[in-house]
Amino acid sequence: MNPQTVASAPTTEELQELALEVRTYLAKRREEGAFTPQADAWTHEWNPEFSRELAAKGWVGMTIPPEYGGHGRSHAERFVVAEEMLASGAPVAFHWVTERQIGPQLLKLGTPEQREKYIPGIVRAEIAFALGMSEPGSGSDLASVRTKAEPVEGGFIVNGQKIWTSSSHRADYVLALVRTSQEENHHAGLSQLIIDLKNTEGVVARPIPASIGDDHLAEVFFEDAFVPEENLVGVLGAGWQQVTAELGYERGGSDRFMSNMALLEAFVGRTEPRPASTEKVGELVARMLGLRTLAAGVMESAGAGRDFAIDAALAKDAGNVFEQEMTYELRGLGVPDEDEYLVGLLEHAMLYAPTISLRGGSAEVLRGITAKNLVGR
Ligand SMILES: Cc1cc2nc3c(=O)[nH]c(=O)nc-3n(C[C@H](O)[C@H](O)[C@H](O)COP(=O)(O)OP(=O)(O)OC[C@H]3O[C@@H](n4cnc5c(N)ncnc54)[C@H](O)[C@@H]3O)c2cc1C
Repeated sequence: MNPQTVASAPTTEELQELALEVRTYLAKRREEGAFTPQADAWTHEWNPEFSRELAAKGWVGMTIPPEYGGHGRSHAERFVVAEEMLASGAPVAFHWVTERQIGPQLLKLGTPEQREKYIPGIVRAEIAFALGMSEPGSGSDLASVRTKAEPVEGGFIVNGQKIWTSSSHRADYVLALVRTSQEENHHAGLSQLIIDLKNTEGVVARPIPASIGDDHLAEVFFEDAFVPEENLVGVLGAGWQQVTAELGYERGGSDRFMSNMALLEAFVGRTEPRPASTEKVGELVARMLGLRTLAAGVMESAGAGRDFAIDAALAKDAGNVFEQEMTYELRGLGVPDEDEYLVGLLEHAMLYAPTISLRGGSAEVLRGITAKNLVGR
């Protein structure tokens, strides 16, 4: 059984053809040595050239309208292309989060000038954004962020710190959630600012050495950094509503259950089948199909312009549980010590496993969102 084929089975002939085209291309590039499949590649395999290659094929910014350089394709088409990229373990981190949520956010809330300035570069994978939400002491309780952007003539003076800001030491910009006024209700007074990470005096981004085996975690410090007023995204003071909507894009996709496809694929392809492993892999693939249905539901809501923040929270939580359990199950089944590649993938997945239910919102937070929705609050 090839888990990639099963998990990626799209539903119409056109989508199947598109998926096959992407799969064939990625397999060819892999054979040519352009990349070695990695677990969790979308978070840390940073390769601007490869992202640009995919962009040139028309596979980045697919749903962005042509007037902004996009391809005007459907959300379903983007969905199957994203699945193929995830399944291949290709190095897509440079464009991943920027394409996934910054493009849509700017399309929805950006001024005409912001759209002109940033979206074509996103579609061509020329620019990368980091996500500037978390701060020391403000992760789950995101509304407590303290990074202050004081309105001044022509813009804002920003002071504070963001943490766990993935790849911000390599990205061009950060979309930062900042406090623009002090209000009694701490969900009020927040705003989103685009901050140029490479050309703003008083902004320093640096990697955080971590035990997860790569250097994608980073932090950003702001010290009297001037940010021009044209970098305000959306409405001053509406940052909370904006960021929670943005988190729907962050949470609801296939990346929340397909991060470790390279590991599953390698496990199936490189270990001798045993009754226990065949049964377990079958079970994992079956679970993945259920998760795919959840993610497809989120994708459909996004395409139809419906609110999908709650569905996305539910999908992410279910996906996180699956990804962690898959890693532990495969470790339990065991891999040959002499297979360095497979051992490396498993070790990486083991190190990442605890972070999976933290990044993008912890399990408890996601369940809280879902529960509140169920009781109608
Ligand atoms: C690999 C990785 C990448 C990340 N990338 C980014 C990024 O690019 N940009 C960004 O802004 N952030 C990023 N983050 C940060 C991430 O969003 C936070 O780690 C997450 O929101 C949790 O916040 P925290 O780390 O402050 O933990 P805390 O909020 O301190 O939570 C610690 C634990 O306590 C639990 N907890 C907290 N409050 C409650 C409560 N009220 N009820 C029950 N349980 C609770 C949490 O569920 C969690 O298990 C990343 C994190 C990781 C691990």
